[in-house]
Amino acid sequence: MCVPTLVEAVSLLAAVVATATGVLVVRRRRTSPLALPLAVMMFGASLWATARALLHVAEGSVPATVTLHYLVFPGAAAVAGATFWYLAVLSGRRLPRRARALLLVHPALLVVALVLDPVHAWFLRVAVEGVRVEVDAGPLYWAHTAYSYALIGAGIVLALGAMVRAVPGHRRVFGVAVLAATIPTVGNVLTNVVAARTENVHLTPVFFLVSAAIWWWVERFGGHSTVVPVATRQVLEVINDAVVVLDPRGRVLDANPAATALLGAPDGSGLDVGADAPWRAYLDDDPTRRDRGTLTAATGAVLDVRVTPMTDPVGRAAGTVVVLRDVTELERLRAELVEQATRDGLTGLHNRRALAQRLSDAVDEATASGRPLSMVLLDVDHFKAVNDTHGHAVGDAVLVAVGRELAASAARGETAARLGGEEFVLLLPGVGAPEATRRADEVRARCAGLTVPTDGAPVRLTLSAGVATLAPGESADDVLRAADDAMYAAKAAGRDQVRAAEPTTT
Ligand code: GH3
Ligand code: MG
Ligand code: MG
Repeated sequence: MCVPTLVEAVSLLAAVVATATGVLVVRRRRTSPLALPLAVMMFGASLWATARALLHVAEGSVPATVTLHYLVFPGAAAVAGATFWYLAVLSGRRLPRRARALLLVHPALLVVALVLDPVHAWFLRVAVEGVRVEVDAGPLYWAHTAYSYALIGAGIVLALGAMVRAVPGHRRVFGVAVLAATIPTVGNVLTNVVAARTENVHLTPVFFLVSAAIWWWVERFGGHSTVVPVATRQVLEVINDAVVVLDPRGRVLDANPAATALLGAPDGSGLDVGADAPWRAYLDDDPTRRDRGTLTAATGAVLDVRVTPMTDPVGRAAGTVVVLRDVTELERLRAELVEQATRDGLTGLHNRRALAQRLSDAVDEATASGRPLSMVLLDVDHFKAVNDTHGHAVGDAVLVAVGRELAASAARGETAARLGGEEFVLLLPGVGAPEATRRADEVRARCAGLTVPTDGAPVRLTLSAGVATLAPGESADDVLRAADDAMYAAKAAGRDQVRAAEPTTT
């Protein structure tokens, strides 16, 4: 038995610390996806460091020395595999069960090779001289070493890729993780290549402890960097808005599933990325301009389009994000609401509010152009009696029948409206008093011919109408009042007739 050297003492200490760290970290495996690979790495480093440290102590015992030489490798394999696993998870990849099982192939083959090694000596060539044990590396040793480097290298590539894609605030975490993986790897290369013969100077597991300390920090305080890229991707996958990312030349770099569904090519072959795809109409010549609008997709869907230019951290154009939302239903509802706001629910004619707007516009137009403007106000005679005798439903049917006659008599550019109750209006732009009176009498006569069925005898109805024509300087209210007065004159004169308002003298 020999007293351990400083290097061995450090290795032993590293083994103890690694084991303790592994135990602490493994308890966090439910809250952090990085904890398990980190713990595996710690236990591997611990085995590796222990075996290394005890070599000198075990000098004098051939079986112990040979066994310790072999024990280094499962530890090293665990460290390499766990390093890849850790860096892959850190980069935002969830290693599926199958990938983790593949990582176990290396240690499993290694154990088989080590158990059989005394027979064929492919891993280590062990030469015993008395109690001295000389060990030289065989081809399988180099295969294991090369594979381990490749694994760590692959992990570093993944982390570097994630660093490039990360938002600026998160890049540092990946940089630190890559640096931490590089330190022991470089140390191990130096040990293997430069100091291959200097058996005791083998501090790789100690270096890995340094890496572990850094990664422990990353795991505790930098964990958000794993969540954000994963979350960003998954949010894009699940949202209903189509998101298309274009490079500065307009080539499609990325599109989420909603984009494929909303903007799919007519033949169903995924996103229509063609230069004349309809959604591209919103990407005008200047891709740095924000834009917003709607378009109708090939499917008939109405899409709200938002184009937002992207810039890199130094302000150069980095491309464009196009977000498209299916607003078909919203548009339909909006159109329906507009319709409801301007139409009378019972007759489908324009309502009082729509008439007010049209009358005001028509007065402005007539005043400006000097063309005539007439209004006919019609009121059902003794309508209350219809309600009282036959009920409200028959009253409604009468109003609907009158409404239908009015709608049929209104030409293009004219307005048929229900003012309220059993009062209706025909607004006749371009029509003078004599013609308006003739038109009013025509409607009166047609309505007088109407019959509305009831349980008993069908109801007949008559209308009284007043006609007014806009005089110079008059307002919309003036015309309405004049038509109303004329209508009451018609009532007073015995109903079922048309009266024109007295022309105002100016
Ligand atoms: P006049 O010949 O003088 O115009 O007499 P009238 O009975 O037609 O006039 P009045 O203003 O006395 O009565 C109008 C009635 O119209 C009173 C009201 O209950 C009824 N009414 C108003 N709106 C509606 C409706 O939407 N449906 C039905 N069925 N009746 C309505
Ligand atoms: Mg009335
Ligand atoms: Mg009436």
